[in-house]
Amino acid sequence: ELTVNQTIEWMTKFAAKIAANKQLLSDLDTPIGDGDHGFNMDRGMQAVVKKLSTTPPASESEALKEIAMTLISTVGGASGPLYGTAFLEMAKKSATTTDLGELLEAALNGIEKRGGAQPGDKTMVDVWAQLVPKVKEGQLTESRITAAVKSTAPMIAKKGRASYLGERSKGHVDPGSQSSGYLFTALLETEG
Ligand code: ADP
Ligand code: MG
Ligand code: MG
Repeated sequence: ELTVNQTIEWMTKFAAKIAANKQLLSDLDTPIGDGDHGFNMDRGMQAVVKKLSTTPPASESEALKEIAMTLISTVGGASGPLYGTAFLEMAKKSATTTDLGELLEAALNGIEKRGGAQPGDKTMVDVWAQLVPKVKEGQLTESRITAAVKSTAPMIAKKGRASYLGERSKGHVDPGSQSSGYLFTALLETEG
C-alpha cells in the first residue's frame, strides 16, 4: 500500500539522492549523451518537493498527478516525459488500487508505451523491468538494484541519444537507469 505521506517521503528521499548525485548522473550522460541528465532530474525533483509542500495533495491520486505534471513541465529531455508518464499512469491506476507493485507495473507499461523501448535497449526500462517484479515479490534489495543498473553497461543502446553511438555505447552505465535505481532505493528506504 502506498499512502500520501509515504509518497511524499519517497519523493523527498529521491530528490535528495538526485541532488547528491546530479554531477555523477550528468557525467554518465556525457560519453553517451549530452551531459544533462543529472541537471534535468535535479531541476525536476526540486520542483516536485516544492510542489508537494506548497500544494498538499488531498489524496494519493492527487499526489501522483502533481508529481507527474511537475516532472513533465520541468525536467525536459527524453527523461521528463518518461518519468512524467510513469507517475501519470500510477495516478490513473491509484483510482482502483493502492498496491505498490500494481502501481509500478502500470508505470512500467506507460514508460514502454511512451518511449517504445524494450528490455535490452539500454534505457531506464531495463531497471524498471528487472525491479518491478521484485517489488511485487517483496524481494527488492539494494544489491538487486545495483545489479539492475550495472546490467545496462554492456548493452548497445537502441533508443534515445545513446543509440546514435551504436556499438560505442557499450561499456557505459545508462544515466536514466542510474537515476531510476535511486528511485527504487528511495522506495526501499521508505517502506520500512
Ligand atoms: P536527453 O537524452 O533528451 O538529454 P536525459 O539525458 O534527461 O534526456 O535522459 C536520458 C535517459 O532517458 C537515458 O539514459 C534513458 O534511460 C532514457 N531514455 C531515452 N530514450 C528513451 C526511450 N525511448 N525509452 C525509455 N527511456 C529512454
Ligand atoms: Mg541528456
Ligand atoms: Mg538533453
